[in-house]
Amino acid sequence: MSEHSAQIGVFGGSGFYSLMDSFKEIKVETPYGPPSDMIAIGTIGDKRVAFLPRHGKLHQYPPHVIPYRANIYAMKQLGVTRIIGPNCVGSLQAHIKPGDFVVCDQFIDRTSGRKDTFYDGPVATHISSAEPYCAKLRELAVEIGRKQNITIHDGGATVVIQGPRFSSRAESQWFTSMGWATVNMTQYPECILALEQEICYVNIALITDYDVGVVADGGAEAVSSAEVIKVLQSNNERVKSLILEMIMHIPDTRDCPCAHALEFARMG
Ligand SMILES: [Zn+2]
Repeated sequence: MSEHSAQIGVFGGSGFYSLMDSFKEIKVETPYGPPSDMIAIGTIGDKRVAFLPRHGKLHQYPPHVIPYRANIYAMKQLGVTRIIGPNCVGSLQAHIKPGDFVVCDQFIDRTSGRKDTFYDGPVATHISSAEPYCAKLRELAVEIGRKQNITIHDGGATVVIQGPRFSSRAESQWFTSMGWATVNMTQYPECILALEQEICYVNIALITDYDVGVVADGGAEAVSSAEVIKVLQSNNERVKSLILEMIMHIPDTRDCPCAHALEFARMG
């Protein structure tokens, strides 16, 4: 395997680079423009891993302007077949508490205007998004999380809002009343673009606070920004160790449907 190739991609920033003994940062060009930043490639165990901060190293790309297509395509060009996409999210349900992890299995797309497909024609391509997240990687994440004594919720739907504004109280109360688990700004179209490239994708979400609707309904107390920062700091290492052990245990071969997402997606 060349030094410019990787099997596993992680959308994580420089905090993750310490997981690798040594790494090389490379610039990748794509037909969709440059990705959010240089990509750091290195070795973890016997795996080649590529790290890319989705917001850019200087956090210069807010969620609604992240070059999602370039980021996914850059990973594809490196040979990546699995992507782990950690992020920080708000909880929509009282029993999903700050500091908990959620491995979601569905999304609700409330974004608008984002470039969310690689297939603008001429060949009509309609992939199924019935199961947008890789079941195998989800199972592995939950299993390892529980082994590491992390409170990890297996499944749940995440609402992806356009941002950069947060939800209104009415929007948030609606999401909560639908039984949806979490709210964030980056899962769409990131996860579906990965599937369009037949890449397995899993989201590891860290709950930082309760969304406004749960608080308004009296289900939970509002969380101050100081408390959010505390949750982030105290959980950074747990996110890293979960991802590290996942990388070590991802099997080399794939027997999940993600690898064949395009098989029945083309018309004519
Ligand atoms: Zn898969």
